[in-house]
Amino acid sequence: MFRTLRKALREELESNDHRIGQGWISGASSLVLSLAAFLLVVGSRFPGLFTSVQLRKLEAMPGFDHVLQGALLIAFLLACTSMVLRQNKLLGLTSAFLIITATFFGSFAFKSAGGGGVHTVLALDWFVLNLAITGALFLPLERLFRRTPMPIFRFEWRSDILYFAISSMMVQPLTYLTTLPASVVLAHGHLSALRAWTVGLPWPVQLAAVMFLTDFFQYWLHRAFHKVPFLWKFHAVHHSAQSMDWLAGSRMHVVEIVCLRSFTIIPMYTLGFANTVIYAYIAIVYVYATYLHANLRFDVEGLKGFIATPRFHHWHHGIEKEAIDVNFSIHFPVLDRIFGTYHMPGKAWPSAYGVGGHPVPEGYLKQLAYPFTPNPAPAETT
Ligand SMILES: [Zn+2]
Ligand SMILES: [Zn+2]
Repeated sequence: MFRTLRKALREELESNDHRIGQGWISGASSLVLSLAAFLLVVGSRFPGLFTSVQLRKLEAMPGFDHVLQGALLIAFLLACTSMVLRQNKLLGLTSAFLIITATFFGSFAFKSAGGGGVHTVLALDWFVLNLAITGALFLPLERLFRRTPMPIFRFEWRSDILYFAISSMMVQPLTYLTTLPASVVLAHGHLSALRAWTVGLPWPVQLAAVMFLTDFFQYWLHRAFHKVPFLWKFHAVHHSAQSMDWLAGSRMHVVEIVCLRSFTIIPMYTLGFANTVIYAYIAIVYVYATYLHANLRFDVEGLKGFIATPRFHHWHHGIEKEAIDVNFSIHFPVLDRIFGTYHMPGKAWPSAYGVGGHPVPEGYLKQLAYPFTPNPAPAETT
């Protein structure tokens, strides 16, 4: 029965009947909101296991219950709108069920959610928020400006959502590991004079500097991940994605996440940029990485030489021979122009994505083990 329901729900979500007034938009947004609220409530029932320290503080704030109740109310109104407008009531009814269940459990769950001092194993709440924010931002954009028709539940979506879930839920251990090298540099670097100078710079200059410096570090490390065969095996997992959309960028081997992030953020943490600059940078990178992989055909070609666009990064993932080892930068294509790796042919897009010969196996666990397995396919950098 659960299977039939899941199938019917999936068909509804993938329905092409999503014009305004058909009840699809209200139904789908109601489902996202109610599912987020439902999972937050579940997470708060087990604060030590599923809730991150930072969000636990947020949940303990006096207004949090009201925000959650507000969200549930909006979700309920949206569910009603959908049920009125839409012939198929499944989206509306599923949301209503989640809202009612969340209300029952939530009425007492949040009262006990504020305890501190517990180390979180899996930050389920951050995964839920991350999915809700990113999904709410990119799902409608990909519906409106998609480059190529692609269902939401496209090939290998299960693996990619698992990557998304695991790296979101591991936010605390990952943050600890990735800031470790920067802390060592900071402790032994005698950088106080430089730090004092940096923090005195105007805010926009600091932001531009932090973005450019991290991209410079990222460029060379990314290039090394392509050129050194052992490193390539880790990075090939990211390149194995054959569908490019908002979820595809999350496919990244955990070893690569730790290596790439920890070296890239060294200038950000050690040179003394203001905290607000660092927060702004993190927010930009968070949205930008998703945007670059998204199935979007935004026509920002006028900026293509200065700021990376989805087409720029899609060429980095292209399966064509000409797409091998090009477009390494994440924000500033000028780095690729300087170092001779820039590739943006006319208005063309790659014909397909992935690694030539598809040597990387499917599935999260197999991909986790892939870099350690002897003699996979010869290291081919597509
Ligand atoms: Zn790459
Ligand atoms: Zn990528």
